[in-house]
Amino acid sequence: MTQAHTACAGGRVYLVGAGPGEPELLTLRAVRLLQQAEVIVYDNLVSDGVLEFVSPTAERIYAGKRRNEHTLRQAQINALLVKLAREGKQVVRLKGGDPFIFGRGGEELQALAAAGVAFEVVPGVTAAAGVACYAGIPLTHRDYAQRCLFVTGHLKDGTADLDWPSLVRANQTVVIYMGLSGLHDICRQMVLHGAAPDLPIAVVQDGSMPTQVVVTGTLSNMAERVAQAGLKSPCLTIIGEVVKLHQELAWYALANATLA
Ligand code: SAH
Repeated sequence: MTQAHTACAGGRVYLVGAGPGEPELLTLRAVRLLQQAEVIVYDNLVSDGVLEFVSPTAERIYAGKRRNEHTLRQAQINALLVKLAREGKQVVRLKGGDPFIFGRGGEELQALAAAGVAFEVVPGVTAAAGVACYAGIPLTHRDYAQRCLFVTGHLKDGTADLDWPSLVRANQTVVIYMGLSGLHDICRQMVLHGAAPDLPIAVVQDGSMPTQVVVTGTLSNMAERVAQAGLKSPCLTIIGEVVKLHQELAWYALANATLA
């Protein structure tokens, strides 16, 4: 055991990925830890179905983050995790998707490492993988895309500040996390930087959950379609020729209809 392990008298933080929403996409390790934890600190993206696996005796702390409130809240969350571990608790820090993909998991671990708190990380199914599967959109396909980019469409000063030339290259799929509020700007910038206005695009709300909605269109009409459909967060945006496969491969809505 390292000094770091002994410093917090047995307390430990497990940074666990909860997947995109469907509880059966949890890893076995995640389920085991949820059942054993003394405290769960969870984000707003974690679904109710996932929380059903939490031990009934565990303390549950909601650490949901709203946009633009990140800085202060993130520091508070870091301090909370350190405090709980120093009290000797077995803590599960539960995050939507995978903790190391747009999840600030790295930042939380840096705070734990600096405080000498022991930790472990459990990967989860990230939204790009899980949501694309449930939407029937393969992210790569030999005929359409040999590359896939994961980017964040989070707005800075009201605009999405992205590396547009790299996003408009041919034969690739672009997956945008947190891109709903910037969608209009993203579609416009891609066309301005040379993407075809009729490039297919999908926006998926609540991927892998019974409330899943998939809206497809092109760069030129998507912002309008999404507004018409009244989509709400969380939404994942997928841009590229692979989106054409959705019509043929959309199995999830089909499965729901069959079961109903
Ligand atoms: N760590 C997470 C991502 C956190 S960022 C992961 O690996 O998936 C939050 C963004 O993830 C949301 O704004 C949305 O773009 C995407 N997202 C997460 N779950 C989703 C879901 N079930 N359906 C659609 N988008 C989702």
